Amino acid sequence: MSLKYKIIAVITVLLLSASILSCVINYRIDVRNTQEQLKNISLPLSIDNIYTEIQQRMIEPLIVSSLMANDTFVKDWLLEGEKDVKPIKKYLKEIQNKYGMFTAFLISDFTKNYYHSKGLIDNVNKNNSEDTWFFDFENKADLYEINLDYNKHLGSSLVMFINYKVKDYTNKLIATIGVGIRLLDIEDMLHEFKKKYRYNVYFVNGEGEIILFTPELNKRGNISNIDGLKQIKSDIFAKKLKQFEYKYKNKEYLLSCKYIEKLKLYLFVEIDKNEYMKDLNKTFFINLFVSILVTFLIVLIIIYTINIYQKQLEQLAEEDSLTGLANRRKFNEEFEYMYNLYCRGNLKKLSLVLIDIDDFKKINDTLGHLTGDKVLIRLSVILKQHLRKTEIVARWGGEEFAILLVNTEKEEAIKIADKLREVVKEDKILNEILETQMTISLGLGELCNEDSQDGLIGKVDTALYEAKNSGKDQLIVV
Ligand code: GH3
Ligand code: MG
Ligand code: MG
Repeated sequence: MSLKYKIIAVITVLLLSASILSCVINYRIDVRNTQEQLKNISLPLSIDNIYTEIQQRMIEPLIVSSLMANDTFVKDWLLEGEKDVKPIKKYLKEIQNKYGMFTAFLISDFTKNYYHSKGLIDNVNKNNSEDTWFFDFENKADLYEINLDYNKHLGSSLVMFINYKVKDYTNKLIATIGVGIRLLDIEDMLHEFKKKYRYNVYFVNGEGEIILFTPELNKRGNISNIDGLKQIKSDIFAKKLKQFEYKYKNKEYLLSCKYIEKLKLYLFVEIDKNEYMKDLNKTFFINLFVSILVTFLIVLIIIYTINIYQKQLEQLAEEDSLTGLANRRKFNEEFEYMYNLYCRGNLKKLSLVLIDIDDFKKINDTLGHLTGDKVLIRLSVILKQHLRKTEIVARWGGEEFAILLVNTEKEEAIKIADKLREVVKEDKILNEILETQMTISLGLGELCNEDSQDGLIGKVDTALYEAKNSGKDQLIVV
């Protein structure tokens, strides 16, 4: 692997590890903070909110029922033998309308008659399973109870009944009275908590029965039969702790409980920890993806930049900065390559031409260095224009140029070289710059089997020297 790729690999690994590590660290901090916040702020706040909301919705019917149970009109009406249904019907209707209750009812312990706002509608019977609640309640010591019931006759919506005992003036039980309210809004509220905050909110009575819940809740029945909850049931009912953690069906829950004294119900608010962490996990993966993407973009930019600099360096190493021609180093490389091809028999002919501007020093001296530079640039352009792409031309030294003619017969090479001499001499631009003709001297030699690279250069250099000595502006061929 080249040094360049080694460096890029190291940078990539370093950047990737740094970004992945920072994502993981951030994620862990987030998880810890979120769990702390959940335990210490969100869950306690939510349970308080729900508690207040429930209190408001449930306490009012309880007070109304209590008032009804202690109303002397009701007591007297019952004690007087339930003679006329009209006044009690009116009374129940008034209560129902005034307090916006779903229903108001009275069941006499003497006649077992069931009255509500429309009058006498039923007679409770011990043998009817639907009426057992009444007889169970009468046998209880409690003064009141709250029953939550999904009532088919009431459009399968959840109804909360407050059953209150009516006692005569000697404290003897004479009836059960109360109201019923639809819990549509409570259900909506529980649903909302699930949807918005992912909280499961449900109610458990003193016996451990889950009595009010949303359909999304994955638990039913008595908490004594639910794994995870049954182990902490006694702690919940002992009301020592408010927060619990338990596992159920491979899910970890954080549970907060609160006892609602008046309703004799336990309010359960819980959250599936993983579900709560879902957003964090999503954010983590998005962050990770973006970090990796950014890392790769950075690596791409690095590769791109390195390539640009590498190209510039290569150009600097190979190119003559003034004329843009290949420099001597590059020329030698190409020459070596061609020479090897020739030696292996893959190249039939190779000729070298060396060019030297005549009396260039004079140009510099009389017209200045800048004009000298212009001349060098113009000569480079002429050389490039009159040579094929396959022929290699380079600035050999100060005002000396070298050309390699590849697979060109000697006669043809001589023609090309002499043509160059002519063209330079007649070049209008050069003539304009110098206000006189500029001439060049050339040496030309063809590579023979016995020649080394340096041998050919030496031979051609001698030819050039000869051209100079023989009066310049000529081509000498060896
Ligand atoms: P001759 O005909 O015998 O070749 O004479 P000459 O004056 O051309 O040869 P000489 O070797 O004495 O002079 C070459 C001059 O080229 C000397 C040097 O200052 C000048 N020279 C070399 N490189 C550059 C360059 O990049 N720009 C300019 N302006 N002059 C350069
Ligand atoms: Mg010279
Ligand atoms: Mg010269």
